[in-house]
Amino acid sequence: MKKQEIKQSLIKFVENAKCFDNNSKLKLLLFLSGVKPNTYITLRITSENLDDQIDFEKYLKKLDIIHNVSRAKGFEEIKKIKNNIAFWKIKGVWFGYDLFKNEKSQKDFKKYKKLLKEHKHKQADFLAGKIYDYPKCCINSFIKEQDEKYLAKKYSYCSFYKRLHENDVNFPFVQHTPCTPKCKPSQRLNKRYSEALKKISPKFFREFTKTKKYTTDIIVDDMNDVTDKKGKSIWPEKDCFDYVVITKDKINGRHYLISWLSNKFFDEGTVLSADVVMKYDYAKIKVKKVKKVFDGFFHERHFVKP
Ligand SMILES: [Zn+2]
Repeated sequence: MKKQEIKQSLIKFVENAKCFDNNSKLKLLLFLSGVKPNTYITLRITSENLDDQIDFEKYLKKLDIIHNVSRAKGFEEIKKIKNNIAFWKIKGVWFGYDLFKNEKSQKDFKKYKKLLKEHKHKQADFLAGKIYDYPKCCINSFIKEQDEKYLAKKYSYCSFYKRLHENDVNFPFVQHTPCTPKCKPSQRLNKRYSEALKKISPKFFREFTKTKKYTTDIIVDDMNDVTDKKGKSIWPEKDCFDYVVITKDKINGRHYLISWLSNKFFDEGTVLSADVVMKYDYAKIKVKKVKKVFDGFFHERHFVKP
């Protein structure tokens, strides 16, 4: 088979594969279209898709795609939720794949890992930004924001999380954290990626951009926060609340963990009836009413050491 045909066959494989989540499918397709020079994806193996890794590796070999693969790590999923307890179960193993456009990128990546080990975080982040083709303004703001004091001064709790949610909506095709929801280079990148995805896989583009609506109960779990080295919040005063909520019903066979920004305070373990609208890789929540308040929310895990 010619390379072009093998690539077409790989695109079909990615579209239908169970081993990739939407985020990995998006990155892999953008990488294959050539707009993304290098990328990182995860591949999950369960009892339902044992052959997927062998098939994927065959494609990488036939197409001479330079890559690194991680060791196998276990992953869990919420099996059921009873009252205010989520029961987790080991579901399978996952592998991380770093894919590179050429040997130079692979070498740069090695250098990046080395810098991380040496705790040269600033240099490491610069290099990573270059490897993944992130806009300069966003790389610089990301590096600055590693400093908690700077972060606490620049944003209030609410403005920080509001920005993250706005970025999700404005730039669903990019993977970096845009410096602002109005960042021009990120807008251009987002447009370029959107067009490339539509061209290489109209099928996945349709699925990814479709709006899906569900009505379900959600349970308030943790509140998102940024903490300092002592574990204390860098925003002791909260001007709104960014919760992790869990869908009480299974949607597409699983319980979703969604980050939700609210002006109202809810206790952990509050059950709310809600409309959940999913699009791209994020979900929006519209709460209808409070149904019940449990005393906290707990996770029961049976952790198995790999
Ligand atoms: Zn930017």
